[in-house]
Amino acid sequence: GWRSRAAFKLLEMDDRFHFIKPGSRVVDLGAAPGGWAQIAVKRGAAKVIGVDLLPVDPVPGADIIEGDFMEADMPERLQNMLGGRADLVMSDMAPNTTGHAATDHIRIMALAENALDFALKILAKDGAFIAKVFQGGSEKEMLDLMKRNFAVVKHVKPPASRKESSELYVIATGFRDEL
Ligand code: SAM
Repeated sequence: GWRSRAAFKLLEMDDRFHFIKPGSRVVDLGAAPGGWAQIAVKRGAAKVIGVDLLPVDPVPGADIIEGDFMEADMPERLQNMLGGRADLVMSDMAPNTTGHAATDHIRIMALAENALDFALKILAKDGAFIAKVFQGGSEKEMLDLMKRNFAVVKHVKPPASRKESSELYVIATGFRDEL
């Protein structure tokens, strides 16, 4: 079985959009407890590296880094481990919620923006970026940045995501690698 409920959200999104390619290199930001990494391995990615602040029980077929993805050396470290650029950067990261909706919103969007910056550094041409964002979708600045750097950008609410929750995912495909 899958380790997380979050796993079903990724399965549903990948069934529709097929961004986990056989033989690809995948970075999974906010990997604990490991559900998304399990799926990436199962769907045939050649290299899967998960990063989380929390420890993750070993996921067969994946490597795990315990740490903050925003550490300065992380893009280089990941490229070395992957043996090149990534085909997919996926982020299911969420901050610890404060219960104060506006604060939680700001924090989750800040994580998503930092995940995008990170993805722009390590994606290969035609690569894909997926991140958890908040209702209303990406902030304009982040959306503009994605539209300049990817051929297609869309927002989806997978059925497994609770209706009361204001989470959404942004799926950006066709990284241009031109800027
Ligand atoms: N997709 C995962 C799965 O299927 O098992 C669930 C991910 S969980 C919803 C979000 C994770 O993001 C948490 O484990 C949290 O520790 C991690 N996270 C939050 N901020 C982070 C950061 N700056 N660097 C690395 N991980 C972070």
